[in-house]
Amino acid sequence: MSVAEKVLDQYSSRVYKNRKTHIVEINNNENENQIAANVRTIPGIMTQRGCCYAGCKGVVLGPIKDALQIVHGPIGCSYYAWGTRRHKGKNAEGVDNYLQYSFSTDMQEPDVVFGGEKKLKKAIDEAMELFHPSTIMICSTCPVGLIGDDIHAVAKWAEEKHNIKCIAFSCEGYKGVSQSAGHHIANNQLMKFIIGEGDRKIESKFSVNILGEYNIGGDGWETERILKRIGYEVVSVFTGDSSIEDLKNAHQANLSLVQCHRSINYIAEMIETKYGVPWMKVNFIGVKGTIETLRNIAKYFDNEELTKRTEEVIADELEKIIDDIEYYKTKLKGKTAALYVGGSRSHHYQTLLHDFGVSTVLAGYEFAHRDEYEGREILPFVKEDADSKNIESISVEPDPEKYHLYLQKEVLEKLRDEKLLSYYGGMAKEMEAGTYMVDDLNHFETEEFLKLLKPDIFFSGIKDKFVAQKSGILSRQLHSYDYSGPYSGFRGAVNFARDITMGIYTPAWSFIKAPWKTAPILTGTLGGEQAC
Ligand code: SF4
Repeated sequence: MSVAEKVLDQYSSRVYKNRKTHIVEINNNENENQIAANVRTIPGIMTQRGCCYAGCKGVVLGPIKDALQIVHGPIGCSYYAWGTRRHKGKNAEGVDNYLQYSFSTDMQEPDVVFGGEKKLKKAIDEAMELFHPSTIMICSTCPVGLIGDDIHAVAKWAEEKHNIKCIAFSCEGYKGVSQSAGHHIANNQLMKFIIGEGDRKIESKFSVNILGEYNIGGDGWETERILKRIGYEVVSVFTGDSSIEDLKNAHQANLSLVQCHRSINYIAEMIETKYGVPWMKVNFIGVKGTIETLRNIAKYFDNEELTKRTEEVIADELEKIIDDIEYYKTKLKGKTAALYVGGSRSHHYQTLLHDFGVSTVLAGYEFAHRDEYEGREILPFVKEDADSKNIESISVEPDPEKYHLYLQKEVLEKLRDEKLLSYYGGMAKEMEAGTYMVDDLNHFETEEFLKLLKPDIFFSGIKDKFVAQKSGILSRQLHSYDYSGPYSGFRGAVNFARDITMGIYTPAWSFIKAPWKTAPILTGTLGGEQAC
């Protein structure tokens, strides 16, 4: 029996039938690595997934520092999302920063019975009086959709009354099947109401947006630092440490760099259609990943000076970290890892682990779609089900005034053919035959796979970290970075290696078994013979 069969064997026939389509043993034949993804979770199975509200407010909107975000609902949704995702943001002159706050309408029973619109309006009035924000975002939670509060009408009312921008997001937690629906809803509204409105002067023709970078532990800052050293102008970052003004100007860049494909591919595609800005899948996680990414970006801009500068910066950055890399390689080479993260890191971090000689035995996603596993080429074959059809899909047209192309159409076509633009190859192609790819891994499967595959490190989140560690396997969080970071770029690679080396070699692992369980606490003799 294979490892997957041993895990599946313990399910009832109905659950077995469902879960076996979400567990794939990687095969040398690419076409056989098909996986079921972005479908409903089996009730009661202890999934790690979150909800649509978490994907919209928690992931995409949360890091926008100067938009005051009011969570319309009972207090739980707001409280549990308060400060728990480490999207960092610096104070900047003239830009409000609300990242440390959590705003809620704190709905009570009468609001559910009689409707919560009045309370929401009151909350907006109060926020205006206390904070004077220029932008307010309203995020729905589960009851809001069920009782029929019209948050979009309230947003319109607020815009007229207070002369501000107010955007409503109908991201009730039950929509879709995971955080993924929330990403889509946030993308749609940002596209409709924010992107394209700015007219900031862009200084450099080497101008880029960084999409799907949420500045966890300072990742976005490290990425920006490298890009700026080379000479790029970063127009906007979606949405780590971002301001509304930055986002408004995204249409003016000459290239969009997509780090997290899952959460932001809708915006990447729409900016290209409407404003002519192509997108490139990048990976700033890992030394090799970063170098390859920097060279790809230089290839797109095709400028001799820029290409030269790219190589100079790569060489200089490498020189500064090479001793550390070599040292940590001696500590980590030959170890194995299992990764289970949201919708992009399980792929990106395999590149980084590879830099240090760590191989992957299992990787999975909570809420990725099939294209993150198998590559965008399978998109035409993905069947929509009732859950995804419920999420609005908007289409845009080329903007008659703001549409611009940095490269000629033929050159763009060539780069697309080379898969340098508008393409993401997914995770499966880079995994070794015989390893496992698992979608929506639940707690039972986590424990079983860890027992059977025995990885040295399990990378996941807070909910399963201590389950793994109680069984003697180091677990590092790849959502919060265990409150460390940054892990992106050159310096981030060293931080990452330092953290997992400390974890693996921590002396505590050798104290797990009480001494009296491995050796007698008393020894003595009786009548000249060893008694115990
Ligand atoms: S599922 Fe509903 S109640 Fe739970 S956090 Fe999401 S929006 Fe809030």
